[in-house]
Amino acid sequence: MDNYEKNYLSKRPQSLCSMCGRCCRVSTTSVPYARLLEMCEAGEETAMDFLGIFEPYSSTDAAREVDAELVDNVINQLKACNNYDESNMTFYRCKYIRDDNLCGNYENRPLLCHYFPGSAWAVVPPGCGFEGWLLWKREEDKQKIRHSKEQLLELQVLKCRNLTPEFQDKAAEVEKKIQKTIDMYKKYGSEFW
Ligand code: SF4
Ligand code: SF4
Repeated sequence: MDNYEKNYLSKRPQSLCSMCGRCCRVSTTSVPYARLLEMCEAGEETAMDFLGIFEPYSSTDAAREVDAELVDNVINQLKACNNYDESNMTFYRCKYIRDDNLCGNYENRPLLCHYFPGSAWAVVPPGCGFEGWLLWKREEDKQKIRHSKEQLLELQVLKCRNLTPEFQDKAAEVEKKIQKTIDMYKKYGSEFW
């Protein structure tokens, strides 16, 4: 876990979770099921943790029968980012979620449950208690990226004023670092912020 994640999680108000259990009943991953299985075979901890508790639904329609609003919300969000591939879409259900919405594996639940939603960009079920807070955290990310873009513009100006090779090299190095930060958020649309 990197420092950003630690910092994010330490400030996340867990009390916002209304314990509706929807994220346990219908979940999905950013990688296809076949890839998850390969990752498990390779001993990747996160994939092993996930498939240790989640079982795939037989089809998207089977997941829709449990929570159609959630399934359609995920699909619509993926479509909006041109990231939807029906053939690679799998929904999962945790085998430990109880009828009263409580976790039947609470003491031994993996870290991924403990930290959900683990990023400002996590897709949560509609009506999840974290929705508003996530929007706020996303806005913070956007502001950070806007500031980085301003820094890039300032650097351009400084490069025009100081043509020494030393300064140009240093500026190029800094530009690369700033651009890397912006690119980290590209999949969320950072080029338009
Ligand atoms: S969907 Fe949100 S509010 Fe419901 S149990 Fe999951 S994290 Fe908590
Ligand atoms: S282990 Fe518990 S908290 Fe984690 S997904 Fe399953 S029911 Fe939810």
